Amino acid sequence: MTLEQYQLHPQHDYYLTHHGAKDTVTGSCHELRINDINLLIDCGLFQGKDSQPLNIEFDIDHIDALLITHAHIDHIGRLPWLLAAGFDKPIYCTQATAELIPLMLDDGLKLQLGLNQKQREKVLAHLKTLIVPLEYNQLKNIKGRQVPSSWSLGKEHEHTRDFLSFCFKPAGHILGSAYIEITLPNDEIIVFSGDLGPRNTPLLPDPISPKRADYLVIESTYGNKTHDDVATRSKRLEVIVEKSLLDGGVILIPAFSVGRTQELLFDIERLIEHSIETESTDDDYWQQLPIILDSPLAIEVTEQYMKFHELWNKEAQDGLSVGRKRHPMAFEQFVMVESHKDHMRLVNRLTSTNEPAIVVAASGMCNGGRIMNYLKALLPDKRTDVILAGYQAQGTLGRDLQNEYSYVEIDGDKVEVNAHIHSMSGYSAHADRDDLLEFIEGIESDIKQIHLIHGEPETKAEFTDVLVKKVNAEVIV
Ligand SMILES: [Zn+2]
Repeated sequence: MTLEQYQLHPQHDYYLTHHGAKDTVTGSCHELRINDINLLIDCGLFQGKDSQPLNIEFDIDHIDALLITHAHIDHIGRLPWLLAAGFDKPIYCTQATAELIPLMLDDGLKLQLGLNQKQREKVLAHLKTLIVPLEYNQLKNIKGRQVPSSWSLGKEHEHTRDFLSFCFKPAGHILGSAYIEITLPNDEIIVFSGDLGPRNTPLLPDPISPKRADYLVIESTYGNKTHDDVATRSKRLEVIVEKSLLDGGVILIPAFSVGRTQELLFDIERLIEHSIETESTDDDYWQQLPIILDSPLAIEVTEQYMKFHELWNKEAQDGLSVGRKRHPMAFEQFVMVESHKDHMRLVNRLTSTNEPAIVVAASGMCNGGRIMNYLKALLPDKRTDVILAGYQAQGTLGRDLQNEYSYVEIDGDKVEVNAHIHSMSGYSAHADRDDLLEFIEGIESDIKQIHLIHGEPETKAEFTDVLVKKVNAEVIV
């Protein structure tokens, strides 16, 4: 495969190459060559219709380090193949990302590669020896292998150094997510956005624009869309939870492993806390509504959200202190379901009793996993509510539910759908068009180039139209 190298600066050997995520939404992997320093930024897996063979189709011998923006599979999924290809250089990421990477990869190694526990442990142990966690804003230098004498020649090269430095800044997308600010040897700055989160989410702080970016490599997944705002989604959620408390129905949340699930849990808990305070509903009422996490991965990821509570936004952190009856993530309220036996017992119990409950179970698009047993048992019950908090691909049960079919097929059985199905776009972990624009317009310096990545071609075209009107920069699609 020949790949286009983009020269960033006409007088310097600064090149950007995209190994994926240029024309697709998934499989993010970029190579930055700065003189003789070579960095990879992310190493993601192609997903869905972008699927490609799981190999590393580019040369990696010259790479000095890998920088990871966050732990979603489309940014880290090819790590096992990178290791298999012999990669043994440092992998830099934030501390929370370092904890999440093995959790997220373990699932893929099990499901996609069919590795047993021992094999998976071996891969992950090797990976952990390469990972170097950094604090947010902690500067890290990477030195070139040699200093070519020509660097010190010529006036315009006067200020160049033989190293670059980088740091991670909060991206507000998922726990540990970061955009990367790299200061080049000539003092210019290139920023890789990774995935940016939306503004005003209840749990993570909003991303703050960098002060300066000469080159900006930015995602544009939702560059032509606007999401439900936070107030709208909270209001909708409140109605669903109130109804569940009244009629004893179960709220089913097909879970995406990380991000939305925790935001949603946080929002639900906050709403119930609020209703207890304002409507003098007694605590017992709340006690009737257990939050059931029936997904080993969601449990582990949620534990990481708890552990890294210093990364939450101020409002969420305030919830940790005085005046609050429960923990903002209601950890003690969670019913963790680990074994399959307990899982089946719970499905039967919720089907045969009148108990309200919130159940979080994988998979997010209802195309497998423990959510299937709940759906099969509870879709015929009109008291049931299903909250679809993410994108539902064509051909999945989630999409059939979204289309409001009156019957669906589960395990070959026809299942009647009397449950209420709610699609909530406000729980996307991605910045929408307005969030992206605010991030870009918040950059104080002039931007020379904006490289759009992560987006369907028409999305990028529409976003480019908006961008060129607002920002005086060359937009490269
Ligand atoms: Zn992501």
